[in-house]
Amino acid sequence: MLDRVRPWMMYVPRPLVLAVRYAYSMIPLRYRMNRAYFEMSELLQASQWWEAGELEAYQNAELARLVRHAYEYVPYYRELFDRCNLRPDEIRDAGSIRRLPLLTREVIKGRREDFLSRAHRRRDLESARTSGTSGAPLHFWREPGRSAAIERAFFERMWAWHGYHRGDRSIYITGVLRAGDRFQYEPSTRTLVLQNPVITPAKVADYMDVIRRFRPKAMRGYPTLIYAFARLINRYGPEADCPSLEVIFTNSEKLYGYQRDEIVAAFRCRVVDSYGHAERLALMQQCEAMQGYHVIQEYGLVEFIGRDGEPVSEGEAEVVATGFHSRAFPMIRYRTGDWVRLSAAPGPCPCGRSYPRVDEIVGRAGDYVVAPSGRLLSPTVLEFAMMRSPSCRDLQIVQTDRDALEVLMVPDEGFAMEDVDRFVAFLHSLIGEPITVRPVLLDGIERPAGAKHSLVRSLIAREHLAQM
Ligand SMILES: [Zn+2]
Repeated sequence: MLDRVRPWMMYVPRPLVLAVRYAYSMIPLRYRMNRAYFEMSELLQASQWWEAGELEAYQNAELARLVRHAYEYVPYYRELFDRCNLRPDEIRDAGSIRRLPLLTREVIKGRREDFLSRAHRRRDLESARTSGTSGAPLHFWREPGRSAAIERAFFERMWAWHGYHRGDRSIYITGVLRAGDRFQYEPSTRTLVLQNPVITPAKVADYMDVIRRFRPKAMRGYPTLIYAFARLINRYGPEADCPSLEVIFTNSEKLYGYQRDEIVAAFRCRVVDSYGHAERLALMQQCEAMQGYHVIQEYGLVEFIGRDGEPVSEGEAEVVATGFHSRAFPMIRYRTGDWVRLSAAPGPCPCGRSYPRVDEIVGRAGDYVVAPSGRLLSPTVLEFAMMRSPSCRDLQIVQTDRDALEVLMVPDEGFAMEDVDRFVAFLHSLIGEPITVRPVLLDGIERPAGAKHSLVRSLIAREHLAQM
């Protein structure tokens, strides 16, 4: 019910909104959350300790259920199965799913209506989209209450692995870089939201003061936003003396090593990362042992494929995902365009859970730079360049075609044009092919609403990766 009310809240005067929020927070949890949330939370408490065989059996059952549903109610899949001469009961596990073709964004874009489940009424669904940092956004639908509740259950479990529980205070840093700063308190989750924070050297102490007095146990947000804040603390701040803060959770973008180091130096607490995406088909999370990322098997079936489309068990691989909980708009064997690194024999995780692990999230499709020859420069290579970047408050590498890069920079104290020249020369040497690198100096880097804040913004990498 509340999901229907929420969009109307923006038309209600602010003091009233706050009063409603407080009143809402008084309602006991069992009335506030829906059945999907409680069922999933209960399952996840038990299933995290299942043996590999039990997890596999669960996945096979969920896959069979999804495939049956897709065949019955989703026109695209009915047609695909018939065309491939397949019966739904022939797709039973991670092996037999490969009888179906990989699904690309282009296919979905061309036939969006045909992916909608006829078992769902359009007016009960919410429209969602990907961020559009790596090309035109993909639009799809999901069940608003159910999808958010399930997502929450999965994240609450991971938070609990790191000592942060429902009811503990947290800071959530979100939003686009835009003039004006805003704090907003969510009493029901005891979260202080920093919406569109423009944290400048002059304001860093004020922000830190508000946070310290709030006494959060956790902080959450995009790595780039938290990194930018951490960097200001390390350069200009008073010490980020916030003893209550135990853990920082990052998500939605690649967390680079240099970002993690800067964040740890500023806040002196552990940084826990997770991999997910707007489509909600695959989830990978770090457990308390912090040795890579667990592939969360109750969330969806994840396959790892190489550039030739064949399964990969070691080295770099693309994430191909089949989500179990997106029944309104099923996507089976969806190519995410995101890449991970797998080690040959990771061995059991010290945490005792049986989920498979990946070593590293290499990058999102939009994080790659494509050289004129078509060679890809991975985010790890570009990370190397960042060590030599000039003194900037914000920096972003933008690629709109193969022959040119723009480096957007917001100069900071100590910024020197000679450093820019050196940085451009270093980028040239990394790419090793003739390419135009154009530095652009700005007061701030504007990001469209809902877009991620990533270091590299390539509008051509996803398409290029899909063609490889
Ligand atoms: Zn573990």
